[in-house]
Amino acid sequence: DILQRHSHDPTRLLQILIDAQQIEGWLPAPSLTRIAAALHIPRARVEGVAGFYSFLYTRPVGRYRVLFSDNITDRMLGNAELLDALCRKLWIEPGKLSEDGLVSVTTTSCTGLCDQGPAMLVNGRAIGQLNHRRINEIAELIRQQRPLDLWPAEYFRIDDNIRRRDALLDLDMPPGAALTAAIARGRDGWLAEMQASNLRGRGGAGFATAVKWASARNAPGAQKVIVCNADEGEPGTFKDRVLLNSFADLVFEGMALAAWAVSATEGFLYLRGEYHYLRPQLEAVLASRRQAGLLGTSILGQPGFDFDIQIHLGAGAYVCGEETALLESLEGKRGTPRIRPPFPVIKGYLGRPTVVNNVETLAKTCLVALEGGEAFAATGTAQSAGTKLLSISGDCAAPGIYEYPFGVPIARILEDCGASDTQAVQVGGASGMCLASYEFQRRIAYEDVPTAGAFMIFDGTRDLFDVARAFVHFFAHESCGFCTPCRVGTALLKGFMDKLADGHGAKADLNDIDWLDRLLKNASHCGLGSAAPNPVIDTLQKFRPAYERRLVSLDFEPAFDLDAALAEARQLTARDDPGAHLKTHEEEEK
Ligand code: SF4
Repeated sequence: DILQRHSHDPTRLLQILIDAQQIEGWLPAPSLTRIAAALHIPRARVEGVAGFYSFLYTRPVGRYRVLFSDNITDRMLGNAELLDALCRKLWIEPGKLSEDGLVSVTTTSCTGLCDQGPAMLVNGRAIGQLNHRRINEIAELIRQQRPLDLWPAEYFRIDDNIRRRDALLDLDMPPGAALTAAIARGRDGWLAEMQASNLRGRGGAGFATAVKWASARNAPGAQKVIVCNADEGEPGTFKDRVLLNSFADLVFEGMALAAWAVSATEGFLYLRGEYHYLRPQLEAVLASRRQAGLLGTSILGQPGFDFDIQIHLGAGAYVCGEETALLESLEGKRGTPRIRPPFPVIKGYLGRPTVVNNVETLAKTCLVALEGGEAFAATGTAQSAGTKLLSISGDCAAPGIYEYPFGVPIARILEDCGASDTQAVQVGGASGMCLASYEFQRRIAYEDVPTAGAFMIFDGTRDLFDVARAFVHFFAHESCGFCTPCRVGTALLKGFMDKLADGHGAKADLNDIDWLDRLLKNASHCGLGSAAPNPVIDTLQKFRPAYERRLVSLDFEPAFDLDAALAEARQLTARDDPGAHLKTHEEEEK
């Protein structure tokens, strides 16, 4: 059934595996073999894909799969104690399957619920605002083996938490209005409007959207493709969740606007696995748009304007937010970033010219179509036109979504969200920048502080070393392993941070961290590896005492107690005289 639904198409392999997993809860070896045979592809490829994604399981997991969100903001809200409490109540060890196969409890990277954490996913369904009372109730529901559909509905209520609206979040547009305006301008006129708007990608890189569209339009090849990158995996970011939940029509209309400019025929929304629960409502929006003639053939009666959208699910791989890794994943492969050039606009999905845009970018194109490019560019700064959605979390009174015109100072944002005694702000997620209080007059803009939207606040009680260490763990976990500098470099970086945390740090380790920073920046294959040291380098520079108070020596210090490690050798040789012990620093100096 599953294979038929996916037309026995190997490019649908990831979707097939996701669907197959629904049946048994995991992917046993015979299932992988059957899928490989039915798709006429090597079994190694199927196993390679199944092994790549965190949300695909090739070993048994619990009938209740509990994944605690483990972003730094969840940690600040006590996720570790809650995880321990749940495990104690269920008599299981974290990371292990219960003997009866009922439940497994472990952690996952950020689930996009930092404004309402601590959060968890149970069989893919999100539950926020966890506390000990709720954990007790969840343990009881699991023990009773109550189906998720019968759990209290308020557990699954996810709030948008929109705290400040501007042009986009205030837009009340009937479906099709922006598309009608763009069609009236003709494809050339619409692209010219986009050029005038100076709209830049909201996913972080800030590339000019019109340039991307024009390149794909001019690229040779029919059957062009529009991809909406909804793989919002950067820790601390959740704005796309809100756009998809409450403004999906704007996002899909933006995809159609891109298709009109580029003459694309096919569209994909690549939805991160953590937002799986949004899929039914997104499918419903797509169905109503088809019914209204806003998708399908001859859209809005325009001959030759044929375009439709499918939803593809991701499965818990942060690296798939990188556009070429995302395309690999869309083609049913492991999400390994491609070598560029060729760029996706020339050779993207299945070798076809492909535009990959962020959710917010696409929604913003509706404003351009309705108001015109010049009006859009009139807001913001010279190099950063329009507004930006920020996902605010951490130490503040009102976490949530804030929309500001570009150019807003950090200090103003902190004031608006009720932050006090702020020590630092991590802007742009784990790969972004850590700003200290003396930088709070800086502005959100591509030319000053660029961001995809994450804005995590840390007050004076927080230890910035712990923050950086959490991000380093994240990168080491999410490295796809394709290139050695990143695979090994992120693991080494994690090792150095753990060594410092364990009280074995030395100044030499800080020098080695500097060296690793250069290695990762210069030799990594994609942005994940080159950005991995950012949180450490930033905090080392701005909060050095947080590191220095962990140093036990200015010279070399091993990561473990060497003398204790020799105890067995002393026992075997029956020697325990002073000569059989290593000297301490103090003894050496005497
Ligand atoms: Fe994979 Fe890291 Fe290399 Fe990127 S830099 S390709 S994430 S191993």
